[in-house]
Amino acid sequence: MLKNTIKTFVTRLFATPAHGPERFTRDKHGIDRRRVSRHAIKVCEVLNQHGYAAYIVGGAVRDLIVGLEPKDFDVATNATPNQIRPLFRRARIIGRRFQLVHVVFGQEIIETSTFRAPSSGNQETDEHGRILRDNEFGTHEEDAARRDFTINALYYDPIKEEVIDFHQGVADLKNRVVRMIGDPETRYREDPVRMLRALRFGAKLGARIDPTTQEPIARLGELIEHVPDSRLFDETLKLLTCGHAMDCLRELHRAGLNKSLIPLMDRIFDEQGGEAFVEIALSRTDARVRSGKPVSPSFLFAALLWRLVHQRWLAIMEQGEPRNSALIQAADSVISDQTHRLAIHKRYQSDMREIWLMQARFERATVRSIWRIIEQPRFRAAVDFLQLRAEAREVDSVLAQWWMDLADSNDDTRAKMIDTWQSGHATARTSPTRRRRHRKHPSTTASATDTAATPTDPKA
Ligand code: ATP
Ligand code: MG
Repeated sequence: MLKNTIKTFVTRLFATPAHGPERFTRDKHGIDRRRVSRHAIKVCEVLNQHGYAAYIVGGAVRDLIVGLEPKDFDVATNATPNQIRPLFRRARIIGRRFQLVHVVFGQEIIETSTFRAPSSGNQETDEHGRILRDNEFGTHEEDAARRDFTINALYYDPIKEEVIDFHQGVADLKNRVVRMIGDPETRYREDPVRMLRALRFGAKLGARIDPTTQEPIARLGELIEHVPDSRLFDETLKLLTCGHAMDCLRELHRAGLNKSLIPLMDRIFDEQGGEAFVEIALSRTDARVRSGKPVSPSFLFAALLWRLVHQRWLAIMEQGEPRNSALIQAADSVISDQTHRLAIHKRYQSDMREIWLMQARFERATVRSIWRIIEQPRFRAAVDFLQLRAEAREVDSVLAQWWMDLADSNDDTRAKMIDTWQSGHATARTSPTRRRRHRKHPSTTASATDTAATPTDPKA
């Protein structure tokens, strides 16, 4: 307890700027006001008109300064939730421990929170220093000190077009450095998720992590295990969908943090072609993220874990298990090994299973089963997945394209395509198998599974 209090005191000492904040005008920070959400500006204006201070804060300011498109806009203010809410037509208070206000404008929600006090040392923590309760309102300066990295503690006043910077965040941003506010070890102990966030911002901004901020990660990685499942899942997902997923994954691996999140990753990377498959999958995800398209978490995790499912599928079939039940067993065992560490929501798990199990059906479909396959809710995702496997040269690209065309067609065209399936089926099934078997990595092609499979199962 005493140790904690001293550490907190030291943290706050370093966290407190000596000469007040730096202020940057339009020509120095370079934010183009036209790229700022008009709803976020509106929230600040209304709060200002009622005598409160209000700023756009966090990720949006950081991204605007470096010229990236912000994901969303948050506002910080000295008004309390009960003072904020009546000022807007559609606003609701959310959160139990630390309340904040969602101001709603059509599709856009501006999360508006009251300045918060940083760790006072009296907060309730677990035995590793993780803060369990954190609900005190604070001053503007305190709010800045409780944020994680200097680049995330910038406040933009959209009326004066001024950036307020308590921790040299603008300089760090320009120099592309991720630097923790305060004593890094204490801050990681308070909230181990910050380790993942450091890697994410490093990869996303092409920034280096300051050595003092980096150093404790290698020692404290295990603390991640004490973070509640849902938060860990959310941060992992953010990491994989930040637009630079492969860089993040490599950094996770290097820092040893993957053990607590994706424990199977070492084995996936060790598998022949495993890393390449993940790389293809993640680069498609990155491309989607960068062009503003949504990414499905189930597809992402299905792709990450697939090579292991595939490998186990082959191994189980080699023991004489029929093709379909072997795939079910492989899928279940991989999901159970993975969720032992990082809990993937149940609904995502069932989607992942569907995507995987449909892979066996694509290769062995019959005219009747094709119509049933089309009706599966995850059909489209499973076809995309097949495309991914074709790109990784794991299945025949003609087969993958046939299914893609089918997915893109209307019912009439589908009927015609399915009528001619028999011959296409034969070509797709036999020729790539034969050809591939003599190639370099027969065991890694899905078609090679046919060798160990039972004769064609029409119900497959
Ligand atoms: P993104 O662009 O991914 O949304 P972000 O920086 O906006 O990045 P959020 O998770 O949306 O990240 O958080 C908003 C802000 O809240 C951050 O910029 C940071 O100031 C603060 N914050 C978020 N998580 C933490 C944390 N674990 N510890 C301290 N401050 C945090
Ligand atoms: Mg954000």
